[in-house]
Amino acid sequence: MASSTFNLYDLPREELRLRLARWGFASVHAARLWSYLYLELADTFDAMPELPAKVRARLAAETHCGTLPTALATDSGDGFTHKYLLTLPDGERIETVLMRFTGRVTACVSSQVGCAMGCVFCATGQMGYTRHLTPGEIVAQAVHVARALRVSRPKLKTQNSEPKIQNPKSHEHDVPRLRNVVLMGMGEPLHNYDAVMTAVDILRDPNGLALGGERITLSTVGVVPGILRLAAEKRPLHLAVSLHAATQTERAALVPAAKKWPLDELMAACRTYSETTGRRIFYEWTLIEGRNDSPENARAIGALLRGLPAQVNLIPLNPTAGYAGAPTRSEAAKKFQRILADEFALPSTVRQRRGIDIAAGCGQLAFV
Ligand code: SAH
Ligand code: SF4
Repeated sequence: MASSTFNLYDLPREELRLRLARWGFASVHAARLWSYLYLELADTFDAMPELPAKVRARLAAETHCGTLPTALATDSGDGFTHKYLLTLPDGERIETVLMRFTGRVTACVSSQVGCAMGCVFCATGQMGYTRHLTPGEIVAQAVHVARALRVSRPKLKTQNSEPKIQNPKSHEHDVPRLRNVVLMGMGEPLHNYDAVMTAVDILRDPNGLALGGERITLSTVGVVPGILRLAAEKRPLHLAVSLHAATQTERAALVPAAKKWPLDELMAACRTYSETTGRRIFYEWTLIEGRNDSPENARAIGALLRGLPAQVNLIPLNPTAGYAGAPTRSEAAKKFQRILADEFALPSTVRQRRGIDIAAGCGQLAFV
C-alpha cells in the first residue's frame, strides 16, 4: 500500500468528515463512506458505488483501506476459537483471535508487535518488543473478525461430543456479529495509549461497529500513568489489571514491569480509578502450580483487594516455549476460589481453557 496515502481505519468519524470537507465534499458522503467501511465492511472503492465518482477518485488517490492480509488462519479442534496471523504493511505480523464461547462473540486484538514488559510466562513477552500498532492496525483486526463472522457460521459439533456453551443465546449463532473486543492480544495497550484510545473511539462509534457500552475490555500489566489517565479521562471501558502476585517481591519476579510501577503505586492507582469512575476492576491472576496458587496466596490477594470493587479472573497457566511452569489443577483452583468467596466475599472466575491446541490462549500469541 502506498505510504503516501493515509489509512481510512486510522480516523474517527468526525476526523474523516473534516478531511472530506477540506476536499469540498459534503458530510453526507463522509457518512456514506463510514457506513461502507464499518457496516458493509467494504475495503475497495469499487465496492462503494453510492459515492460519486469524483469522491471515489480522490479517495483512491489519497487514501487506502488498511485491511490486513491473512498469512495463516487456524481453527481449534472444538470449533470455538479461530486464530488469524495477519501481515502488517511493513511485513511485521500480529495475531488476532476470534472466540465464540460463553454465549459471546469476542475478538481478542493486539496493540503492539511483541511487548516490552517481559512477563516471564508470556510468549509475547518472550519475543520482545518491535513496535506499536497504529489505530488503523488495531481497528483492522476487529474488522477482520467482523468479516470472518459474516462468511462463516460456527461449526459446532453435537452436544455429546462438545463441552456445553455457557449461557447459550441461540440468536447469536443465527446472526453472528462481533459483540465484544478484548485488548488482551499481543502487547501492552497502555504502553501505546494514544493509538489504542483512538482505535477504541472508532470501535465504539454507534454508526459503525457500535462496540460501546460494556463491550470493550482493556487488560494492562499495571502501567500506573496509563491507569490514572484512563481514570482522569473517564474512558468508557472495562479495565483488567494483571496482578499474578500480592507482594512486590513475588510480583517483580514474574512481571519485570513491577520494578518500574511497584505494587503499592499500582494499587493506589486502581483505587483512584475505581473511585473516579465508579467501576469495578477485574484483577487477573495466572495460576502457576506451586508458585502462586496456595491458600496463603489466595488470602494475600483477598487482603490486598479488601474494600475495592473487584473481581478476580484466574487463568490457569498456558504453555509457552520459554517458561517451564505448570498450570494449577482444577481442584486447587476451586479451593483458591472458595477462599476468596468465603473469607473475603470476593467474586472470581476461572478462565475457560480454550484454543490451547492452536496456541490461541492467554499469553500464547507470538508470530512463530
Ligand atoms: N499486556 C496485557 C494484556 C495481554 S495478556 C496484560 O498483560 O495484561 C492477557 C492476560 O494473559 C494477562 O493477564 C496476562 O498476564 C495473561 N497471560 C500471559 N501469559 C500467560 C500464560 N502463559 N498463561 C496464562 N495467562 C497468561
Ligand atoms: Fe506484555 Fe501482557 Fe505478555 Fe506481560 S503478559 S509480556 S504485559 S503481553
